[in-house]
Amino acid sequence: MKCSSCGGTMVYDVAKKGLVCDHCGAVQPLPKPEESSGAGTADFNPAVKEDVSDWGSARNLVTCDSCGAQLFIDSDQMSGLCPFCGSAVVLTLQEAKCGLAPSAIIPFSITREQVTEKFYRWNKFAFWSPESFRKGKILGNLTPVYVPYWTFDADTVTTYSGRFGYTTGSGEDEKINWYQRTGTVEKHIEGACVCGSKKFRNDKLLNSVISFSTKDLVAYTPDALSGMAAEKYTVGIDEAWEVAKNTELNSRVTNAARAKENADRYSDLKISTEYSNIKYRYVLVPVWLTGCKYGGKVYNVVASGHNWKGNCSRPFSVAKLITFLSIFFVLFVVTSIFGLGGVFLGLGVMAMLVAFIIYMAMFMSTLSEQRQQERKMSEGQTE
Ligand SMILES: [Zn+2]
Ligand SMILES: [Zn+2]
Repeated sequence: MKCSSCGGTMVYDVAKKGLVCDHCGAVQPLPKPEESSGAGTADFNPAVKEDVSDWGSARNLVTCDSCGAQLFIDSDQMSGLCPFCGSAVVLTLQEAKCGLAPSAIIPFSITREQVTEKFYRWNKFAFWSPESFRKGKILGNLTPVYVPYWTFDADTVTTYSGRFGYTTGSGEDEKINWYQRTGTVEKHIEGACVCGSKKFRNDKLLNSVISFSTKDLVAYTPDALSGMAAEKYTVGIDEAWEVAKNTELNSRVTNAARAKENADRYSDLKISTEYSNIKYRYVLVPVWLTGCKYGGKVYNVVASGHNWKGNCSRPFSVAKLITFLSIFFVLFVVTSIFGLGGVFLGLGVMAMLVAFIIYMAMFMSTLSEQRQQERKMSEGQTE
């Protein structure tokens, strides 16, 4: 997108939550989330064609030969390193097929600096990571990436038959009475969500970090994407719908049946659900991501781009452990020669106890510091 005052290139700026001209610095804010939670919904029916690809702006596809990640990028915005694994990525020259255009997006609101600060805050507790990790080298390639998600809304009518349990009494007198019941329940379901990335959907690190509600969404505009990378979805809409029916939708209608029977639990439940008025969204969820290979394994730093969650996997430094054990052993041998081995061991255990207490105290104070910052930030966001 071009700047209206000088014709320069406008790029999304996380700190300003809007587009900023790289030439004259003009700022154009993005729309705020609407009060209604309907942003970007569209009817899900067989007419949904996945070969249309109108993202509103040209995107190039880069693929990583090493881990298979596929990202749409904006012209030449990426460092050339894969944010998933740190390998060099290759620009695919042929015109990229983008698939369906996104319908909703959660724009980035957490900055690179905030993610970095948080990484260092917790890093002091990771004694056993290799020094290159402790010094944050991995952060050099921290990249904002939008990860694809599908959400579904639907009206459901479910017929069920099974055993429902009612608890009576408490403690030792607790008893469950079971009854066979059959019935029908109607329920409107909103925001059942499925990860659109095969690479990520079973990733513990990412799943611990990503959470969003439909209230966070704004309707998609290409503006929020300028200067940012988006992962290509690898779970198509039809597959996502099948996954949703077997997972979240299933558990929500089952729960609706349990609630209708006023039961505390159920077993051997058979259900059959009719779905109608199905709406879907294709949502882009913001994630800060970096990865690097260490000893043949990929380690990642993953942080949400809109809530305060973050996580990372770290290698364990065997060299550090060996050094520590060798020093301990040498000191033990030396003190034993002077007949003080027992004293040394006693002191050693005490020192470790003291170190542990100091560690816990530091940990608790860091935790409260972070809670405070998160509170301040979330108050700031609701202004
Ligand atoms: Zn300008
Ligand atoms: Zn890669």
